[in-house]
Amino acid sequence: MRSRLIEIYHRLYAAYGPQHWWPGETPFEVIIGAILTQQVSWTSVERAITALKQERLMSPDAIARAPQEHIAAFIRPTIYYNEKAKKLKAVVEFLQTRYGGDLTALFALPTARLRAELLAVHGIGEETADSIVLYAAGKPSFVVDAYTRRILTRLELITGNEPYRRIQKLFMDNLPPDVELYNEYHALLVRHGKERCLKRTPRCDACPLHGLCPFPRQYRR
Ligand code: SF4
Repeated sequence: MRSRLIEIYHRLYAAYGPQHWWPGETPFEVIIGAILTQQVSWTSVERAITALKQERLMSPDAIARAPQEHIAAFIRPTIYYNEKAKKLKAVVEFLQTRYGGDLTALFALPTARLRAELLAVHGIGEETADSIVLYAAGKPSFVVDAYTRRILTRLELITGNEPYRRIQKLFMDNLPPDVELYNEYHALLVRHGKERCLKRTPRCDACPLHGLCPFPRQYRR
C-alpha cells in the first residue's frame, strides 16, 4: 500500500505540478474558507471572502460583533449562507471563549487534541477540522474529501463505503507525518478529481494513473 500511495503521488505531481493550496492570506482566513467551502465550489468561496474583506469582516472580533444576518448577506454565493454564517459565529465564539481569540494558543495544542476541540464546534465536521489542522495550523492530519474517496475507489484501494477515519488512516499509516506531503497530496487529488477523474465520465485516456487504475478496463465492459 505504501509504495502504491507514493507512486500515485509522484505521478500526480509529475502531471500537475505544485498546487500551492490552501489560498488563504492568514490562518484565520483559511478557517473561514474551510467552513465556507462546504458543499460549494471554491470560486463561490473566493467571492464571499472578497466581500467579507471589503466589509472588514475578516477577523474574529469583526465576526463576533456583526449580526449573523449581516454576515450571511456577504456570503450568499456559498449557498446555505444562513447556516454558514451561524457556523462562522460559532467558531469565533469558541476561539474567543476558550482561547481568548488567540489562534496561536489554539494551534499549540497537540494535533489529536486540536482536532477533537474543532470537532466539538458547531458546523465543523471531519473534513473541515482536518483542513484547519493541516492548512491553518500546519499540523499533519490528512484531509479526505469526495475526490479522495472517488479516486481511491476507482483505483480499488477502498470499496468507497469506508468511514472517513479509515480512509484517512490508510494515508497516515503509510505515509510519513509530513505536512508538506499531506498538503500537496490532497491538493493533487482535488485537481485530478476536477480535471480528469470526473464523477460521471472520467477522462481515462492519457490519465497519469494509467496502468495503476483498473477502472478503464471495467468501464469498457
Ligand atoms: S484511469 Fe480513469 S478512473 Fe482511473 S484514476 Fe484515471 S481518470 Fe480516474
